[in-house]
Amino acid sequence: MDYFHRKNGELFCEDMKVSDIVRRYRTPLYIYSLKTQVHHFEVTSRAFRDIPHLICYAAKANSNIAFLKTAALYGAGADVVSGGELQLALKAGIRGERIVFSGVGKEDSEIELALKSGILFICAESLPELERIEAVARKLKIPAPVAVRVNPDIDPETHPYIATGLKKTKFGMAEKEAKKAYVFCQGKKWLNPVGISMHIGSQVEKVRPYYAAASKIIGLYKKLRKQSINLKYIDIGGGWAAHFERKNKLPHPDDYVSALYDLLKELPVTVIAEPGRSIIANAGILVTRVIDIKKSEIKRFCVVDAGMNDFIRPALYGAVHRIEPVGLKPGSKTTYDVVGPVCESSDFLGKGLRLPRVKRGDLLALFTAGAYGWSMSSNYNSRPRTAEIAVAGKRCFMIRRRETAADLLRGQSVKGIDRKLIEGLK
Ligand SMILES: *Cc1c(COP(=O)(O)O)cnc(C)c1O
Repeated sequence: MDYFHRKNGELFCEDMKVSDIVRRYRTPLYIYSLKTQVHHFEVTSRAFRDIPHLICYAAKANSNIAFLKTAALYGAGADVVSGGELQLALKAGIRGERIVFSGVGKEDSEIELALKSGILFICAESLPELERIEAVARKLKIPAPVAVRVNPDIDPETHPYIATGLKKTKFGMAEKEAKKAYVFCQGKKWLNPVGISMHIGSQVEKVRPYYAAASKIIGLYKKLRKQSINLKYIDIGGGWAAHFERKNKLPHPDDYVSALYDLLKELPVTVIAEPGRSIIANAGILVTRVIDIKKSEIKRFCVVDAGMNDFIRPALYGAVHRIEPVGLKPGSKTTYDVVGPVCESSDFLGKGLRLPRVKRGDLLALFTAGAYGWSMSSNYNSRPRTAEIAVAGKRCFMIRRRETAADLLRGQSVKGIDRKLIEGLK
């Protein structure tokens, strides 16, 4: 569900014409519908209506502070995976007690920041990490609330690079190890085990693996209760699917939750959900302008001004995104590879796409770009990163300015690199 629509063939984001926004802010440009983000928070919390819950928006999907602030104002929390995201979430007004800290390889300094921020819990990834959390907590004299991240060894049936709950991935602890982790916490003054967590992957398009994984961790939760380890939180992670095409039938938040309902309903716990993509993916589009049409012997390339540095999902995951002209005119269609200006053969936004005939200067919109779009962008090929615009009704807000050449130089230095040095290296 989103608030992009067409009127007389022209693409609108809520009440704003996309081509008008682009005239003002140029391309490539990320444009987001705030109403879509809020709507997704609504449907997510409605899905949990009968269950005590907290939605912790997964910041890495799109960590622009504007979206974190929307989350804060909505009453949601955040799932962060670095000290940087933690600081952004706090700055956006999300209180520490609504933030969970996930991810492999947390530095002591990040753990320290999390504890000082009064975080809800840290998801421990391994026994060595748990030992480090304990050491930091002891040093600070702040008890560390922890959840053990369990690797349920369930295939989420998604792209291998976004599957995280299989034995062969680096995430979480197998059940046996997880039990050891809870035993380790017992009698540790500075460790406070409050939860159990999982996150099996992203774009999990079926309820079944989600249910299977949740059953496993809830089973473990119950076993722990028998040993008087009473946890307050069951963190079911994120990974709910976003709709990439209007036509495909994917689970609704209600489907994911109702599948878990019987497992969860009588437990004295608060459920934590960490959706990222399902909240923000459909809220964003990437608008790009056609630079040239280039024909080879076997293909027709539509060369656009957005590259893999702006949007890496097709190159990284083979992700397929809907691409359409911003202004749709009736007419015949042609097959294009939509490619960017970056010097890599993997620099494409879409391959073999049937598009109405386009020419230099035309605008294309790539849909479902709100999650893992800007947040995965880079300056590769020394390309300044794009601006981001958020729309609410008839109003639009520049939530990030376009980078300039000065931004590319920021932080770099040639101090000490002089002729004498180079001569001496000959
Ligand atoms: C990335 C991540 C999420 C969010 O995943 P989505 O597919 O965007 O919903 C949630 N929890 C953890 C621990 C993550 O690493």
